[in-house]
Amino acid sequence: MSIIEEKPKDWSFVVHSAQLENGKLYNFDWRALFEGTIIYDGIDFEFLGDIEVFAEIQRDRNQIIADVRISARCKAPCSRCLETVVLDLEQNFRYFYTPCDSKEEKIAAEADDHVVVLEGDLGLLDLGDQVWECVIMALPEKVLCKEECKGLCPYCGKNLNYGRCDCFKNQVDPRLSPLSRLWKEIEE
Ligand SMILES: [Zn+2]
Ligand SMILES: [Zn+2]
Repeated sequence: MSIIEEKPKDWSFVVHSAQLENGKLYNFDWRALFEGTIIYDGIDFEFLGDIEVFAEIQRDRNQIIADVRISARCKAPCSRCLETVVLDLEQNFRYFYTPCDSKEEKIAAEADDHVVVLEGDLGLLDLGDQVWECVIMALPEKVLCKEECKGLCPYCGKNLNYGRCDCFKNQVDPRLSPLSRLWKEIEE
């Protein structure tokens, strides 16, 4: 399985923005192949197939307002017990594609995460970078197979969701350990 480090080259979610009627709401949807692994924050997210992209787009004179929503399925190991978990990722953001006349306007616009500066007039608008951003922002910081996952035994590595291991019995109650040390000293 290949590692995905940036937006896939063949991604293209294009809208002919100049053809949109002012003030009217348009719906777009795409489905694109999305296979490979994104390693993010030390977690491997393995994507299994397609990504679905929906966009509700409205033109406001020479600005485009796009509500972008993605959904994709991936697999990742549980942070505690390492068992594979299937995750259905969803994310949505509103983006403003806006032309900027002056340099100051452009700097201000670029400081805002959800404003995309349009170079030149309205034309072909590719939502690819914003879709990629939605995917990355959809990745959870922590993956759990279930909220109460018991994880692995730190001594023998057994998955404690399937029952206790013997390490637990052999461990000395920490409150008793000074006593056991005392016994050892007496024995010696
Ligand atoms: Zn788990
Ligand atoms: Zn154990």
